[in-house]
Amino acid sequence: MLKLEGKVALITGGNSGIGLATAQRFAEQGAHVFITGRRQAQLDEAIASIKGQVDAVQGDVTCAEDLDKLFESIKAKAGRLDILVTSSGVAAYATLDATTPEHFDQTFDVNVRGMVFTVQRAVQLMSEGASIVLVGSIAGSIGNPGYGTYSATKAAVRSYSRTWAKELAGRGIRVNTVSPGPIDTPMMDGASEEVKQGLTSMIAMNRLGAPDEVAGAVLYLASADSSYVTGAELVVDGGFMT
Ligand code: NAP
Repeated sequence: MLKLEGKVALITGGNSGIGLATAQRFAEQGAHVFITGRRQAQLDEAIASIKGQVDAVQGDVTCAEDLDKLFESIKAKAGRLDILVTSSGVAAYATLDATTPEHFDQTFDVNVRGMVFTVQRAVQLMSEGASIVLVGSIAGSIGNPGYGTYSATKAAVRSYSRTWAKELAGRGIRVNTVSPGPIDTPMMDGASEEVKQGLTSMIAMNRLGAPDEVAGAVLYLASADSSYVTGAELVVDGGFMT
């Protein structure tokens, strides 16, 4: 039996990396999937790679008008939302002395502000049994030289998911965080081979993760298999944190 038969799901950042792998998994499991991201060409490529019912709505999660357009489109086409996965995110290198107000604002705008106001709109279309999965990072739990701002955004993501788990439990809506370790996605493309080797040496399983291995964890939290799990952080890191 398909795990998401008849469900309506929105995946932000669904045109790349972890979000795209999740969209592919969800569609295979019978969901009607909506994906969003800023780059139309990547949305078109994603649509072509997803087998099943999928709609793409171009937009920027930091833009209120784009978010309104996105949820109007979901309401018009599907009438409701059962699952939200927030995978849109950015990570830029800046040590404390190089951290500018612009760097701080850009990182928090996408990873935290965009996520918060996406969830705020999403819950209006949700009812009993709905599930929200926020993509955090193990970076939110460790000291991460050069990525202090990024790591702080991911700690904020986990914090929000715990509060919302309690705020929304009465409505039957679950909220959880998936925190990946180093995953081989376009976000990693900027990293040198030396950096990737260094990261790999810290992972018990001695390799980077694949986006689909995170998608499997997201599917668990999105589906009824995790019906008694809320406010949790599911770490998917090949043993990095052990
Ligand atoms: P990715 O392939 O670069 O995906 C990032 C996604 O975010 C893209 O779909 C991008 O689409 C979207 N995005 C960025 N800014 C946006 C905006 N303002 N509005 C809407 N969408 C936006 O990287 P990824 O590794 O899959 O990252 C997905 C999530 O996993 C992120 O939250 C990241 O922090 C988290 N994560 C990644 C790793 C890793 O090692 N890769 C580890 C831990 C956590 P557009 O550019 O088209 O907008």
